[in-house]
Amino acid sequence: MITIHQWEMRSPREPLCLTERRIDSLSPGEALVRVAGCGLCHTDIGFYSGAVRTNHALPLTLGHEVSGVVERTGPGAEAWSGKAVIVPAILPCGDCAACRRGRYALCPSQVFPGNDVHGGFASHLVVPARFLCEVGEASGESLERLAVVADAVSTPYEAIRRSSLAEGDVAIFIGAGGVGGFGVQIASALGARVIAIDPDLERRRLALEHGAEMALDPQADDLSSLRKAIREHAAEHGLPSEEWKVFETSGTTAGQAIAFGLLARGSHLGVVGYTPEKVSISLSRLMALDARAEGNWGCAPGRYPEILQLIEQGRIDLEPYVERHPLSQINAVLADMMEHRLHRRAILVPDFS
Ligand SMILES: [Zn+2]
Ligand SMILES: [Zn+2]
Repeated sequence: MITIHQWEMRSPREPLCLTERRIDSLSPGEALVRVAGCGLCHTDIGFYSGAVRTNHALPLTLGHEVSGVVERTGPGAEAWSGKAVIVPAILPCGDCAACRRGRYALCPSQVFPGNDVHGGFASHLVVPARFLCEVGEASGESLERLAVVADAVSTPYEAIRRSSLAEGDVAIFIGAGGVGGFGVQIASALGARVIAIDPDLERRRLALEHGAEMALDPQADDLSSLRKAIREHAAEHGLPSEEWKVFETSGTTAGQAIAFGLLARGSHLGVVGYTPEKVSISLSRLMALDARAEGNWGCAPGRYPEILQLIEQGRIDLEPYVERHPLSQINAVLADMMEHRLHRRAILVPDFS
């Protein structure tokens, strides 16, 4: 018998409740992961606020940005026993037609912890073991901090890889918070010349310290002024005036309008942020500019080792973008997140005695 302590969501906007869940045994291929840390994501706020429904009926334990240690395994997953792992936010089945084509995000049997099954705001969670990402001893990172790789780092990484970003390219991030801040670092690590756009002064300062060479305030400049400032900067520094890689990482309609408006000839727009709100754009600009737009649902499991390597090499620095809180404080941290009082990605660290 396994007892899991978890903070359950029973209904939207109600404080989460600490409950116990008992499991008799694990199914084939499953792993019981003892949670080291679980990041709090805007998607969790979407679920918590009631704006987005979870696939699994309530009550449900949220949390899909998890790192931890495999404590027990089901039949066939024994090799994972005792390993330190990151739990990717999207766990595909690996066997269906989509998975066999490498289109893991389209897997109809995918497991999204904290949405399809109980997630990481808990002492443990049970997930399919197959696509866990093993963390080597050499990472030099605290395991709890690596939780943010499961979504905040890996999702912009996938978007950047899909844009075919190359050394010397101009990469523009609209939104330099949890996700965009890591995007700035990743693009810079891959050799891009990075521009960050964010209304928050502290975020702009952090972006400039960690890979951006220019940071602009969208509240001080309208779209045409932003475009002019970037064009002038590009001309002054010998950067390309076309084929900019633009990433929408704010998840706001204002950010989406800016991202679309900054597309140049041959540009790529990576849609990373999510909002249920709609924005009015002239879609034909894609045609006129010979540009393209692409969204990505999470990150392919095979890319996680590349990301860990960038972290091990010190080319992505997690620490400036995260803050830790005891899991017992989750209701207070949720309230802070709802009220926009958090400046960094919150990692909830289990503190069950
Ligand atoms: Zn997320
Ligand atoms: Zn599949």
